[in-house]
Amino acid sequence: MQGAVLYGPRDIRFEERDAPTIIKPTDAVIRIAATCVCGSDLWPYRGLQAIAEPTPMGHEYCGVIEEVGSAVRSLKPGQFVIGSFFASDNTCPHCRAGYQSSCQQREFVGGAQAPLLRVPLADGTLVGTPELPSHDIVPSLLALSDVMGTGWFAAEAANVKPGATVAVVGDGAVGLLGILSAKIKGAERIIAMSRHAGRQKLARDFGATEIVTERGDDGVARIMEMTEGVGADSVLECVGTQESMKQAIQSVRPGGSVGYVGVPHGVELSGQELFYAHVHLHGGPAPVRRFLPDLIKQVWERRINPGKVFDLTLPLDQVAEAYRAMDERRAIKSLLLP
Ligand SMILES: [Zn+2]
Repeated sequence: MQGAVLYGPRDIRFEERDAPTIIKPTDAVIRIAATCVCGSDLWPYRGLQAIAEPTPMGHEYCGVIEEVGSAVRSLKPGQFVIGSFFASDNTCPHCRAGYQSSCQQREFVGGAQAPLLRVPLADGTLVGTPELPSHDIVPSLLALSDVMGTGWFAAEAANVKPGATVAVVGDGAVGLLGILSAKIKGAERIIAMSRHAGRQKLARDFGATEIVTERGDDGVARIMEMTEGVGADSVLECVGTQESMKQAIQSVRPGGSVGYVGVPHGVELSGQELFYAHVHLHGGPAPVRRFLPDLIKQVWERRINPGKVFDLTLPLDQVAEAYRAMDERRAIKSLLLP
């Protein structure tokens, strides 16, 4: 089969790779229905995160089970499934507590930008749909694999409650779906921090009620002004830089919560500042597996359409262009079809 392999900065190739097979009896191999490029794929793509050797790319996936190992009990070939970027057993203490992305047996699932993918711990990792989905909801089901699951966790970690005032830092795909998640959770005001016209429109489509274009201290000042000096009840931090984290912590009211899901790059927090902020901080790699059953149901019943975040669709063999378009900010998120 042919799949995407990263060789070095901005050098992604679509080339012949060995097709995955069952290695452990708990594995499944799935035939990919759709995959995509993640914002986090851009770190190694831009050379900002070193790779030791040519690396098969992609960790967002959904598709049909091709084959299962001898120990797999709950899944059968032919079933349509979605899974997270971390495989999890779904039985250990951390999984039972709802933190499958810290599973004691967790394994990263990589190489999804290909026609076939091996998924470890299949029983614990994969969640099936009631039947084969119609084509129009496949992008939304794919979004649950990471980007929507992560936006949902940001809202969950930020303790978004009905009637709340929420601010969202970051207008990438995760931030935009954080807005949708806050809306579903009943937030009354959702302030999107964005300076790009196209993204502001999508933010409003997903439920943002106000837009703030200022950043840093000016952004914090705007949020304070809009909340009569109180601050937001919940802030979703979906970037991962020092500036975005600081902005999130300073925009929240005393007793409020920051949910942070942007992978930190160079973030350092001051103990003094945290002490006096009276803020709840919670975040990390999203335990997407916890949310899959509920989010699949919402997509299946066509109550939500997180797939709207994909603004570019390409055949898988044009994966290099999919990365380029996101790198050059011509696309918010690229969908790839094998
Ligand atoms: Zn576990």
